[in-house]
Amino acid sequence: MNFLDFHKHYPDEESCKLAFKAHREKAGIICSRCQNTTHYWKKKREQWECKKCAHRTTLKSGTVMHNSKLSFQYWFIAMLFITSTKKSFSAKEVQKQLGHKRYEPIWAMMHKLRSVMGLRDDLYDLKEQVELDEGFFETVDMSRDYSKALKRGRGSEKQTTVLVSTESLDVEDKNKTLKPGKETKLRYIKMKVIDSLKKEVLKSEVDKTIEKGSVIKTDGSNSYNDLKTDYIHHPTVSTMTERSKLLPWAHTMISNAKRLLLDVHHRIDDDFLQNYLTQLDFFYPNFFISKNISKHNPMITSDIAFYRQYSK
Ligand SMILES: [Zn+2]
Repeated sequence: MNFLDFHKHYPDEESCKLAFKAHREKAGIICSRCQNTTHYWKKKREQWECKKCAHRTTLKSGTVMHNSKLSFQYWFIAMLFITSTKKSFSAKEVQKQLGHKRYEPIWAMMHKLRSVMGLRDDLYDLKEQVELDEGFFETVDMSRDYSKALKRGRGSEKQTTVLVSTESLDVEDKNKTLKPGKETKLRYIKMKVIDSLKKEVLKSEVDKTIEKGSVIKTDGSNSYNDLKTDYIHHPTVSTMTERSKLLPWAHTMISNAKRLLLDVHHRIDDDFLQNYLTQLDFFYPNFFISKNISKHNPMITSDIAFYRQYSK
């Protein structure tokens, strides 16, 4: 959805509210007290009332907007920002665009949206042909204290390890015109922050991310040795320059992600790197995949279905 379409569909607070209500009703309202699914809509209070126990559910409760005082329109605009472009937006920029006085609520909204995207990220596994590689991101170790982190205090610089997996499809290349490494088309990406490159850590992360029996390409590092038990593992010993040919998508993703994130955020708090990466996972397939595959692809649905009913 582009800005003009967006404005046509959601010109004001009321239209956003109505659209959100319709989405929740389509997904089904579940009473948090008795799990009943039938409700009356109380128009004056703008709440649903459970037909069994009379427990009330507000429009925002149980969703990503739970307890938020920000308007529906703010949330919609933020979602448009996050989903419509391959650029990442800083909370500062969104705050400026919205003309909102305080930084903290906007910052919290952006992070909540990114973490909701992460929930969806966990719903599917990568399969068939997967490239696996690790990237090292420059981050800053901020204070664990939430409020101090917001003040953007100084922190010590560190490197955070990210495991990048990409699923790709073969592209038909009858005339053999494609460059080596480009005979495949990227489908999905997952980027996960990991604690170390120990074999056990990698294996357990791969088990969470990739379907058993898939073909996995990695570099020649010993860290990947355990993969052969459950996967078809193709390790290749490679120098840095070979990497871009042997693991073209993973390699591209790592360098693009670094560039995009540093462009926007300058200093990345290590606690939030995962959220930023999740956002990239979300929009990258959109960017690379041709439109006709999109309707079969759960990641590509750019409608607002994903912010229905995620419990906290
Ligand atoms: Zn109830």
